[in-house]
Amino acid sequence: METSYRVSDHSGKNGTRKGVFLKYKIVAVIAIVVLVALVLLAAFLGPGRKRSSSESCDNNSGQQSSIAEQTTQLSCDVAIVGGGISGLYVAETLLRLQKETNVCLFERDDRYGGRIHDHSFQRAPDIPVSLGAWRVDESHSTVWEIFKRFNISVSYAAKNNQDRLEARGFFATDILTLKQKAFPALSHARFQNATYQQMLAYLASHLKDGANFTSLSDFEAEYLTPEGFQLFSHMNAFNPNNDCQPNPQSLTDSSHKGTTFTHNYSRPVNGLSAITRALKTSAVKLGAKLYKDENVRVIQENQENQFKLITTRYTVTAKKLVLAVPVNPMKQIKGSVAERVQNDSIFDSIGFMEAFKGFAVFEEAWWQSNTAGSRYLADEQELLSSSDCLGFTVPYK
Ligand SMILES: Cc1cc2nc3c(=O)[nH]c(=O)nc-3n(C[C@H](O)[C@H](O)[C@H](O)COP(=O)(O)OP(=O)(O)OC[C@H]3O[C@@H](n4cnc5c(N)ncnc54)[C@H](O)[C@@H]3O)c2cc1C
Repeated sequence: METSYRVSDHSGKNGTRKGVFLKYKIVAVIAIVVLVALVLLAAFLGPGRKRSSSESCDNNSGQQSSIAEQTTQLSCDVAIVGGGISGLYVAETLLRLQKETNVCLFERDDRYGGRIHDHSFQRAPDIPVSLGAWRVDESHSTVWEIFKRFNISVSYAAKNNQDRLEARGFFATDILTLKQKAFPALSHARFQNATYQQMLAYLASHLKDGANFTSLSDFEAEYLTPEGFQLFSHMNAFNPNNDCQPNPQSLTDSSHKGTTFTHNYSRPVNGLSAITRALKTSAVKLGAKLYKDENVRVIQENQENQFKLITTRYTVTAKKLVLAVPVNPMKQIKGSVAERVQNDSIFDSIGFMEAFKGFAVFEEAWWQSNTAGSRYLADEQELLSSSDCLGFTVPYK
């Protein structure tokens, strides 16, 4: 779930800036992926205390308690680990619905929002470029409820048309054509006339056998043939050789989720951070105690069966614990409770993909004149290419 970002500004032709953006458009090319969000809930009792950021933590309980001696104690009814949209939403909701009164949230970064993070280019300051999540499907009722409740104005974004697909150097505008061009072996036997959705359904019908396979790749290759597996990898925009693959069950879970999408997207006019900002402001007003720059390093139980968290500056005791962090950061947390979560089979089943997201701002919408052959790409189109890259043209209007 690690995501890195790169932004580059190609808009300053010969150093001229002024007013060019009124005329020209911007393209945001995004190599995406997806990830996964982990929210694990548990319930119990108690308070605690904390430690110095320069000290490292391991599973040695003696070392942990000596670290705890040097930190400040903090007592919370609910301790939330992670200040992304999940953690902020849980904090705000518990307080708003008056389920809890003493809610603490710990965020390791110096900002809240996690994978929702907007950037502005100097030369296009009024365009919030979302480095992580950037659009919301119409079916995301919880997020739409947030838009409504906080009066967040949204604009309509491009429909996900997969207008231009590329694999193995072949281009197409739909998966069936791409399948015929780039994966000709699939034009024989079982999958000859099968659409992507039909292949997926066939795979799902064998899900009960998934447990016999150690990886999703093996499972897909067995039932879809190695070529079918390659097609799926390309169409899911991830490189099967580099990513941590979810197990077969997680594939169908996420595919099922995908089928509930309308593919009609919107985004807040001021970027997705408008959501996390609103949640944070509301949570604080309702009494949430938010701590940033607080890396939760250890989660264990104390003698009173309460949760005990060791963060950068605090030792926290809590009756209830909410884990709102992705898989990889979760793996970094030590302590008996964290280990129980890490060793749970459900935790193992969560897949993730490494993501790199890049943006470039261009002074001219060059793709409009790039009309050679079928390689024309209009505004607001999606490009899915080379198995691990998604691109979108985003015009600046
Ligand atoms: C490139 C990209 C594009 C995406 N596009 C979309 C999209 O268009 N639409 C959409 O709906 N979704 C999209 N997503 C998914 C969406 O961003 C995530 O599902 C969502 O932001 C996850 O929120 P979260 O709060 O669960 O996790 P995160 O946002 O990851 O928040 C977890 C927080 O926990 C903190 N943390 C981690 N470890 C610790 C620790 N030990 N102690 C304290 N704090 C810790 C992190 O710093 C982080 O702030 C995209 C994701 C990526 C990466």
